[in-house]
Amino acid sequence: MRAISLSPEELERYDRQIGPGVLSVDGQERLKNASVLITRVGGMGGPAALNLTMAGVGRVIIAHGGKMISPDLNRQVLGSESVLGKPRAPDFGEYLRTMNRFVEVEVIGHEPDDADAAALAARCDLIISCPPTFEERLRLNRAAVQAGIPFIDAAQWGITGTLIVVKPGETACLKCLYPEPPPFEEFFPVIGAISSATGSLAALEAIKILSGSGKPLWGQMLTYDGYQGNVAKVKLSRRESCACCAGV
Ligand SMILES: [Zn+2]
Repeated sequence: MRAISLSPEELERYDRQIGPGVLSVDGQERLKNASVLITRVGGMGGPAALNLTMAGVGRVIIAHGGKMISPDLNRQVLGSESVLGKPRAPDFGEYLRTMNRFVEVEVIGHEPDDADAAALAARCDLIISCPPTFEERLRLNRAAVQAGIPFIDAAQWGITGTLIVVKPGETACLKCLYPEPPPFEEFFPVIGAISSATGSLAALEAIKILSGSGKPLWGQMLTYDGYQGNVAKVKLSRRESCACCAGV
């Protein structure tokens, strides 16, 4: 039998998520050996990072620049009013560290540019993308496709949340779907409950992929229309002429 590196304390911590229908010990070990980049860590990325930290992903890397403003606070599960006017990433990183001492949390206090994204993708096993702009989403998608690592894009508007799960070389990528970034609305409406639900589902897909449990939503778009209470799943087609993934 292969030796495992999980300590008795770690096995105790994860006791409720190891067993039939959830994770195997090997799957938990794979989580421990994984690194995940989450950018950004607002309404969706915050709960995504929190869930990955609690689940025992070995290295959780969070990236977020800028300062917290009051309208952000309807959806920040990692922070409080004490962060108003300050950069959130260092504070959120400290909070995550208090949640699981078996996890390394790395904080990057800015949005990754092209070079950062490529360098981060090269040392990560998966990227969860939660930025507000499609320029950033497409940049992270490109970095993941070039590195050949899974990519999960989480999006929100109003009370609707959307996930896209990409396996480079096999499924459509984000740029297959959006060859050009759609118009950007800086202060779009959103309710925190849909942000955290969508971020949590993104984390769940990451946990499934990394641990080898369940059936990941490869190549699909999952939408929860909270206004109507409808769930939809759509299989995405690759675009032969995609500037990002054609030939990958
Ligand atoms: Zn593509």
